[in-house]
Amino acid sequence: MDLINHFIAGAKVPSREGEIVGDVFNPATGRIARKVCMGGAAEVDAAVRAAAAASPAWAATPPPARARIMLEFRGIIERHAENLAQIITSEHGKVLSDARGEVTRGLEVVEFACGIPQLLKGEFSADVGRGIDSWSIRQPLGVCAGITPFNFPAMVPMWMFPVAIACGNTFVLKPSERDPSASVRIAELFKQAGLPDGVFNVVHGDQRAVEAILAHPHVAAVSFVGSTPIAERIYATAAANGKRVQALGGAKNHLLVMPDADLDQAADALVGAAYGSAGERCMAISVAVAVEPVADALIERLSSRIRKLAIGAGTAPGVEMGPLVTRQHLERVRGYIDVGIEEGAKLVVDGRDLKVKGNEDGFFIGGCLFDRVEPAMRIYREEIFGPVLSIVRVSDLEAGTKLISEHEFGNGTSIFTRDGAAAREFTNRVQIGMVGINVPIPVPMAFHSFGGWKRSLFGDTAIHGPEGVRFYTRLKTVTARWPEQKHRERAQFDIPITK
Ligand code: NAD
Repeated sequence: MDLINHFIAGAKVPSREGEIVGDVFNPATGRIARKVCMGGAAEVDAAVRAAAAASPAWAATPPPARARIMLEFRGIIERHAENLAQIITSEHGKVLSDARGEVTRGLEVVEFACGIPQLLKGEFSADVGRGIDSWSIRQPLGVCAGITPFNFPAMVPMWMFPVAIACGNTFVLKPSERDPSASVRIAELFKQAGLPDGVFNVVHGDQRAVEAILAHPHVAAVSFVGSTPIAERIYATAAANGKRVQALGGAKNHLLVMPDADLDQAADALVGAAYGSAGERCMAISVAVAVEPVADALIERLSSRIRKLAIGAGTAPGVEMGPLVTRQHLERVRGYIDVGIEEGAKLVVDGRDLKVKGNEDGFFIGGCLFDRVEPAMRIYREEIFGPVLSIVRVSDLEAGTKLISEHEFGNGTSIFTRDGAAAREFTNRVQIGMVGINVPIPVPMAFHSFGGWKRSLFGDTAIHGPEGVRFYTRLKTVTARWPEQKHRERAQFDIPITK
């Protein structure tokens, strides 16, 4: 059986005698497909040392030369997009067309990073004093680390390392142990593009590897994307260890349907956003907020669409929704359906009995729809991360905006309406980081930045785009005088004032 190795200093690292290995499943068959090395402190130390050794030369490589490697990398990724998509589907389970989309969204960050000479341009002020000029530049931090979740094994790492590396940093990635192959393939492709060895490294593992990264003195910054409890812990530990940190967490994204909305369009948008990738997206819609009197008409439209979802292996033609990532996660999602029923919500569509012919052992569950969900219920408060949509009924826009704003998560939200004033009011007042207007999943493009509010992001900077450049660089401001006779000064004991 294939063993997925770490990628350190430009090469796959053969597994060590006695090294722990983990199982990687094909979620569609339910069978173990590969094994993965599970690194600990020794592997993390080797990767960080390789990154630290590569750091001075890479930081000294002019940004236009770094950009040329990025451009080459962009072309190589594009040529290998199909191969990457197949790797993603084989370990994550999402349908192939969605995996292709994931690769494209990652590629867009590489395209953004190709503009790094422009993005790193500093600011210059002539004559801040007589014969004195001042300018600001942004310099790399050194070794940066990324810790990423299972749900986007290519795109989320690519939110991080292209920007970090283009800025002149070196990088250690700890991908999810559940679908680790894509990251190694990407590392190989980056090397083909001409990236010097040690600039991009991949260490596999779980909590042990993460703790080693957080404790390592040579790691200057940590980007994390994953669930909220872990994000909060990563943020606190990395900050206590003196590292710059951004930690993106979980979500509960609401889509508010106004009474004037086109209900067919809203229902189509909701089905795609709630059940695409089996709900395993941090921007998936998991709550539909129906402003009365639309709830019954919306539920009717949703139910018929959900019952017709084409569910199966992600590689099968025409399939709209694949399996969940692991059996454990499937059991967790089923558990939430039981909780919702016990709490008194009305299960309108029950997908629990789904069997996929020929893939009976796969981690499948059908789409589920709950009506009459109340804010106090666990199925409303907690992130389920599966194909489960809850309907909450509210009386008006004001009540809907308040409900959404009071949720502990603040990743994304959306409003469906034909009323510009309502959309404007909602956009301005809602306490959420990313907002859509008649767009169900408002994921910012690579040249904007991605980030939620409240317990969906711990830290001050969002990820990729201009905020990514700020995160992966630090500001240096220079004040300079070339001493000519006419500006020569004696010792000064007061704060200088420009005259
Ligand atoms: P997770 O938190 O279980 O794992 C994320 C990473 O942390 C993995 O690399 C994992 O190995 C590591 N990890 C797990 N447990 C750890 C521990 N105890 N200590 C240290 N490290 C640990 O998340 P997941 O299940 O892989 O991904 C799904 C979650 O990610 C969802 O909550 C989803 O909303 C979130 N997510 C958020 C965004 C965003 O942009 N906000 C994007 C994608 C996913």
